[in-house]
Amino acid sequence: MEGALEPGKSGRRALLLDRDGVINRDHGYVATRERFEFTCGIFTLTRRAVDRGYAVAVITNQAGIARGYYPESQFFALSRWMTDEFRREGVDLAGVFHCPYFANGDVPAYRRDSFWRKPAPGMILEAAQRLQLDLARSIFVGDQPTDMAAAAAAGVGTRVLIGDGQLCSAGHTTLTIRHLAELTATL
Ligand SMILES: [Mg+2]
Repeated sequence: MEGALEPGKSGRRALLLDRDGVINRDHGYVATRERFEFTCGIFTLTRRAVDRGYAVAVITNQAGIARGYYPESQFFALSRWMTDEFRREGVDLAGVFHCPYFANGDVPAYRRDSFWRKPAPGMILEAAQRLQLDLARSIFVGDQPTDMAAAAAAGVGTRVLIGDGQLCSAGHTTLTIRHLAELTATL
């Protein structure tokens, strides 16, 4: 039942966000702040979510690390900057979860399959455990079918696909939007 407190089911609701294409425009392997362009409406959405009691966390595949396009240290530095920008906008991110692994990568240390890489649910399940989340009452926002598949596999109740409406998502999507403001209005 919505809101019922049962043992082990008292976790927080979360707004889980894919990064590229949701938080920032997807220019392809974004690794510098010069190329990091926040999307319209992201701060309004996340402020509303925090006001409503949601934990806000980022769930991002970062195959660029395995491909050797940028080191993991650069990803961490960019994430610290991004987290500071959110804080300046009044939003404390609960966490940034990333998967540096990719089976066809060029950097041996990161060249492998991973349960963390979307469409597998590992990153979301890890976030749920670390942040004590109730995934069934949580929301995932992504711009790819793999985001929707990962969220469905993890048991996230509301799966929001943002895009131009052209993508098919094999039934994992529960809401399709063209602009983040459409989701903000429902929170
Ligand atoms: Mg994306």
